[in-house]
Amino acid sequence: MSQQVQQEGYFGEFGGSFVPPELQEVLNYLSEQFYKFKDDPEFKEELRYYLREYVGRENPLTYAERLTEAWGGAKIYLKREDLNHTGAHKINNAIGQILLAKRMGAKRIIAETGAGQHGVATATACAMFNMECVIYMGAEDTRRQALNVFRMELLGATVVPVHKGQGRLKDAVDEALDDLVRNYKNTFYLLGSAVGPHPFPTMVKHFQSIISEESKRQIIEKEGRLPDAVLACAGGGSNAIGAFAHYIDEPSVRLIGVEPDQAPSLTQGVPSILHGFKCLVLLDEEGQPKKTYSIAAGLDYPGIGPEHSHLKVTGRAEYATVTNEEVLEAFQELSRVEGIIPALESAHAVAYAKKLAPTMSRDRILIVNLSGRGDKDVEQVFHMLHK
Ligand SMILES: *Cc1c(COP(=O)(O)O)cnc(C)c1O
Repeated sequence: MSQQVQQEGYFGEFGGSFVPPELQEVLNYLSEQFYKFKDDPEFKEELRYYLREYVGRENPLTYAERLTEAWGGAKIYLKREDLNHTGAHKINNAIGQILLAKRMGAKRIIAETGAGQHGVATATACAMFNMECVIYMGAEDTRRQALNVFRMELLGATVVPVHKGQGRLKDAVDEALDDLVRNYKNTFYLLGSAVGPHPFPTMVKHFQSIISEESKRQIIEKEGRLPDAVLACAGGGSNAIGAFAHYIDEPSVRLIGVEPDQAPSLTQGVPSILHGFKCLVLLDEEGQPKKTYSIAAGLDYPGIGPEHSHLKVTGRAEYATVTNEEVLEAFQELSRVEGIIPALESAHAVAYAKKLAPTMSRDRILIVNLSGRGDKDVEQVFHMLHK
């Protein structure tokens, strides 16, 4: 298939849009509409309204006093995305994109999901806005995540198992894109992370930036100054880019993304094109995207958003890895010491904070983005700890 390259939407050499021409036309229109509405006062007011009344924002920036004492170094603050409706940051983006879809006259929302978390966030927002919702999911994933399939169905979505290929996330992405090209006149593709061709990474960042917009205001209220570092886990990179956004132009603030040591796209990836955009990708010996595995389903992706790729090569952000053992320990420690059970994804950021905080003096400040709550992971952790 012939490919078309667009100059917009680049972060250094990363990003862009490498897709067939018929899909490019749909993306051009989406981009135009996004830029038209994102700063529109009525659109902004409507978004603020639903974030407050439905998602429950703003959420707190909690001082983790006992954790700070236990680790004996920098002060730890937790940004509480776990307290959002549906229990994670993904709803921020789902609401933002649905409001845009409504403005564009779409009647039907499609999305793809691997573990099901983005599918659930999308189905939730669709129920709220009375939109038809179709979620593509690899057939293999529908079996492994039967409860999330049921959740989406309860919320009124149609879940379509994809049998093509290996029946995994990549095959579900292909089906969703096919659907979009066929039905773009009434259909909006709601993408869940800061990945994909332009304008998705820019759009997802825009809707997740509320995290750092709030945390910056909150830390200045509480401490009278900026934090020394902001930490977030990185799968596709949406909670991390949202947690970093308002600090990128503050050189005194270290930005630290944390990955599983089994899916270290940023620490070991090489520039390559994946799913229609250029980013750092983990490749195997044959030069194919590596099959990754993470105990945290949301971090199981061989690539990473283009802006993180750029922040990494320019040195503005740092990226670190933690092991499964460290993650499990952090998961339990935060539960025991603060009464907060974190998502396994978020526990990656907590695990790295545990290593970093004791190396810093007590007058230093760390913000750890708690991307989600751990209820969804309790059963899995039970089995891991009892085997
Ligand atoms: C999906 C998910 C992630 C990973 O996605 P990003 O786009 O990297 O933020 C992290 N934490 C939670 C709780 C998630 O549900």
